[in-house]
Amino acid sequence: YQKSIRRQSTLPAETLDGYRIDVQANIELVEEVPQVLDGGADGVGLYRTEYAFLNRRTSPTEEELYDEYAQLAGLLSPRRVVFRTLDVGADKMLSEQSQLEEPNPALGLRAIRFCLRHQDVFRRQLRAILRASAHGTASLLFPMISGLHELRQAKHILNEVRAELDAAGQPYDPDMPVGIMVELPSAVLISEALAQEVDFFSIGTNDLIQYSLGIDRGNKHVSYLYQPLHPAIVRSIKYVVDSAHRMGISVCVCGEVASDPYCLPILLGMQIDAISIAPQAIPGIKHILRRTNMEECKELLRDVLSASTVSTINRMVKETIYNRF
Ligand code: PEP
Ligand code: MG
Repeated sequence: YQKSIRRQSTLPAETLDGYRIDVQANIELVEEVPQVLDGGADGVGLYRTEYAFLNRRTSPTEEELYDEYAQLAGLLSPRRVVFRTLDVGADKMLSEQSQLEEPNPALGLRAIRFCLRHQDVFRRQLRAILRASAHGTASLLFPMISGLHELRQAKHILNEVRAELDAAGQPYDPDMPVGIMVELPSAVLISEALAQEVDFFSIGTNDLIQYSLGIDRGNKHVSYLYQPLHPAIVRSIKYVVDSAHRMGISVCVCGEVASDPYCLPILLGMQIDAISIAPQAIPGIKHILRRTNMEECKELLRDVLSASTVSTINRMVKETIYNRF
């Protein structure tokens, strides 16, 4: 049975009634590419770039980063790879950050905030990503955007880096799409305004759940409250998807919920454009997708949106899964 799931994984991720989504992979190492391709992924929807920066005293050089990114883009071409800029802090600390002694690193100088403060590191990474974009199909993703000002600052720096490359005659893809992670409640609420200034959204449910419900995603004492099907989370995701589609941009869900068979039908009902999940989850999730009916997902979503407790939503999902899939 496992073998037949694997064999079918190269078939398109299409529901029984013909609704197609992109199934992409979340990876952090170039070595994971064979697994991505074998699993039948449409590309890499989230390349976590922290690895090269961790466990060393000095930051990697532009050439080191460029070599890594260009190799990745080349191996995946013509499939897309979405490079997320440095998302350090909280669970992934750099030596510069540990010196800050932040009482609450998850709410501290992390991700895009760190990059806007340490622009030398940020510019080096952006140059490397842009140069790598000449070797395949690349997109750029900014993590932890909390508001428009931050996004505009990041895009301003990106434009300055592009101009430097132009002046130096260095090739890059001038049309490389630029997106943001929607993973803070503030970004959810202003998602319509944000959608007007980017090419795509990627919803990071791991952090969105943490920051919306006030639950440290790594704290076992409160893990019982870490509930992806909390009505506040379902409504937040729906709100973001609707804002994006109203503004004509695409939405990917890249947190763990996208590979949770209980959450997937609800996300499908929202008509998300893509999911990005761990490579090893791809064959199984494609198998489920190909046995799912979109109209039933929409019906389930309608019911779920009217519910106000997690237990009601869980019951609705279980009934749907057992009765129909
Ligand atoms: C997320 O926050 O959901 C996400 C995909 O990113 P990370 O787990 O790297 O924070
Ligand atoms: Mg995140």
